[in-house]
Amino acid sequence: MPVRTRLAPSPTGDPHLGSAYAALFNRAFAKRNGGQFILRIEDTDRTRNSVESEAAIFDALRWLGLDWDEGPDVGGDKGPYRQSERTAIYKEYIAKLISVGGAFHCFCSKERLDELRRDQMQRGATPKYDGKCLALDSGEIDERIARGDSHVIRLGVPDKGECRFVDGVRGEITIPWSQVDMQVLIKSDGFPTYHFASTVDDHLMGISHIFRGEEWISSFPKHQLIYRYFGWDMPLHYHLPLLRNPDQSKMSKRRNATSINYYRRCGFLRESLLNYLATMGWSMPEEREKFSMEEFYGEFNPERLSPRGPVFDIEKLSWLNGLYIRELTSEELKERVFDWAFGGNRLDRLLSLVRERSERFDDLFRQADYILGDRIELKEEDFEHRNLELDEIRKILHFVNKSLEELEEWNRDNLYESLNLLSKSMSLKFRDFLGPIFVAVSGRTVTLPLFDSLELLERDVVKMRIRSAIDVLGGISKKESKRLDREWRDLVSTQSS
Ligand code: GLU
Repeated sequence: MPVRTRLAPSPTGDPHLGSAYAALFNRAFAKRNGGQFILRIEDTDRTRNSVESEAAIFDALRWLGLDWDEGPDVGGDKGPYRQSERTAIYKEYIAKLISVGGAFHCFCSKERLDELRRDQMQRGATPKYDGKCLALDSGEIDERIARGDSHVIRLGVPDKGECRFVDGVRGEITIPWSQVDMQVLIKSDGFPTYHFASTVDDHLMGISHIFRGEEWISSFPKHQLIYRYFGWDMPLHYHLPLLRNPDQSKMSKRRNATSINYYRRCGFLRESLLNYLATMGWSMPEEREKFSMEEFYGEFNPERLSPRGPVFDIEKLSWLNGLYIRELTSEELKERVFDWAFGGNRLDRLLSLVRERSERFDDLFRQADYILGDRIELKEEDFEHRNLELDEIRKILHFVNKSLEELEEWNRDNLYESLNLLSKSMSLKFRDFLGPIFVAVSGRTVTLPLFDSLELLERDVVKMRIRSAIDVLGGISKKESKRLDREWRDLVSTQSS
């Protein structure tokens, strides 16, 4: 069987470091075995997908040099490679799955399901569907469908026994079927869920090996059932350990820079980022820490993957990046620094901002210091404000980050519009509201035009600077952040209604 691997990102939010991590191992395995690496876009969640996010995934993976042999933009003979373009395929396969008894229609209302869940939680039982609609006969099902009753299609799960499988990284894993939910495979809008679409596609696209994050282990039994009902061979799965912070906690968007773009914008080289990711959960013989991608592809053997949670330490990555910087020839260094700082239209943008405000060329660097480099370290006093208390400032910054996260296209006009709206709904003067943002982003109270600066800095750097400013102001606990998130959500929903 030819080796075919894939990366299957969902185009929501920023291109995730986890996607680069999984892409790296999938691609290395395919290359080493003369196979193909495929990019499939899993865009079945219509409420969360965006075209910008898909474009950003392509761009970030290409920047890293993790290009693909088949995919939405390069084609291939197993396409289409976007799930939203494969709905007819899922319709055909779900009908087959129902006909072999692997799936069933479920007409239960949301109220019933909520009540069931509440009940199970109260009893300390695993919340899951109780199989009520399994008892419906085919006449009744047809009648209800013809009547237009809202329904989903669920996976049939054995009520006894256990699912056993071999994970390429962890060996044998056993999960009792009693812990596995009768997963919704087709939602009431007719769209498939990840579990169904992904399994059907992996089979139809001839995927032989899958390297993906360990958060998917608990989904594996559902996927195994789908393969079994269809009588298909299953690809070999390797669940990669999740990346961790130096304190062993899970690396998460809430606390860390998890977007590839952040590392790119901060001036990390693709070589060091890839090299570092390749040491996460995998080791070179003799535990060598620095190696090229050619060496990695030459050596990559999944037997050296380990389930122990690897620590992603930005200090260590910086050290490695320094080694790579020193290896560049002067010509390469010049080119890459220039491209990073001024590439695309960055230089034009910067000069157009500084020109009106400068008398000497060195004003460029004085005024754009926080755009060209990291901003200065902040102190609480930097945020002192005539009209705002520190608590209010923390809240503004938290809300700003929430709004920035939701912004679809990152550009000056959208930024202006979104923050202006937010300040209005917080009943604050725009000027007052912007003050703390200036400080958080630039370390100063007077800067180049704020919205241009935000655009040039890009989303992830801005978000991280705001987050670190919140920390300077004492931080926000998980509980408080949940409460503020709700408050923000209420504000935003009144805005749009
Ligand atoms: N769409 C899933 C994700 O976004 C893919 C998971 C998998 O690789 O099976 O992570």
